[in-house]
Amino acid sequence: MRTRILLVFALLVSVAVLWARQAVGRAGVQGGRDTKEVQVRELTESAELGAPASVKTISKDDSDWLQALRPERYKILRQAGTEAPFSGELLAERRDGWYVCHACGLPLFKSDAKFESHCGWPSFSEPSAYENIRLRMDTSHGMVRTEIQCARCNGHLGHVFEDGPTATGLRYCVNSLSLDFKAGLPATPTRTDTAIFAAGCFWGVEKLFFETPGVVSTAVGYIGGAVPDPTYKQVCTGKTGHAEAVEVVFDPARVSFRELAKLFFESHDPTTLDRQGPDHGTQYRSAVFFGDAEQERIAKEVRDELVAARTWTDPVVTKIVPAAVFWKAEDYHQKWFLTHPVQCHRPKR
Ligand SMILES: [Zn+2]
Repeated sequence: MRTRILLVFALLVSVAVLWARQAVGRAGVQGGRDTKEVQVRELTESAELGAPASVKTISKDDSDWLQALRPERYKILRQAGTEAPFSGELLAERRDGWYVCHACGLPLFKSDAKFESHCGWPSFSEPSAYENIRLRMDTSHGMVRTEIQCARCNGHLGHVFEDGPTATGLRYCVNSLSLDFKAGLPATPTRTDTAIFAAGCFWGVEKLFFETPGVVSTAVGYIGGAVPDPTYKQVCTGKTGHAEAVEVVFDPARVSFRELAKLFFESHDPTTLDRQGPDHGTQYRSAVFFGDAEQERIAKEVRDELVAARTWTDPVVTKIVPAAVFWKAEDYHQKWFLTHPVQCHRPKR
């Protein structure tokens, strides 16, 4: 129940933040059309989500949309219409793949989030990337609902309801006519490896690795201290000796430990002892917790190469030490960035 309340609260916060961003983003108007940049995640050639990247929103005159879309799709996508229940072609779609925006091709939902809701429209437990959708309050038809739009073309997709039977407690109820289906997902890795990095506040570090293609899963936790199974409160005292860290499970066929180690070093300031920006304390130390001698060798090589390239002016203080027990942090810290607009300090490059 608590998780559900938190999720609803998080949704309200996201709506508020998205409204605020929209207001700010409406600065540039050319020829009567809004133009702005949005961060979205597109599909790569290997059918996985790429890292977030800035793209221009698609803004056409109504007459252009009428030309570009069939009338039944125009009515949904541009006039916020609703298709008749149980009429959509994608309702019965069961294959693995991506549901993308019909108007602009942005990936919106993944097949593993689709579930049978019996409501008459394709239903999903979560979007494939929160960057790719916009939520706005819809007060039409005498109801207060949360509308889902495509973040790149503003196309109307459907609404979110709080009656989902899945872990999120949400049902993204989407018109089949707003979507196209692209069959195929990246092959399941035959083998995965694990890397553990500490680079300051773990919320931001997890976001960085979570969004890296080839990373299969991430978790935040505590490592390298003396107290078994510590709480966040204990770790925050700085007395347990743990570092806030991220466990990264990756497919070595798609991303190497070397690439991850390079990303780690380049994404934070490895020259400040027990500190990242405003965060002070040993729990914010910079460290690589290697799983074997090969990871140790590569981490040191990457560090030395970056030092030789004069990436930083001050000496690197990153500790490269053997991995100890990784204690997974409390659930509310996991994937913090999906529901919280406030992120950790990251150095600007
Ligand atoms: Zn779109």
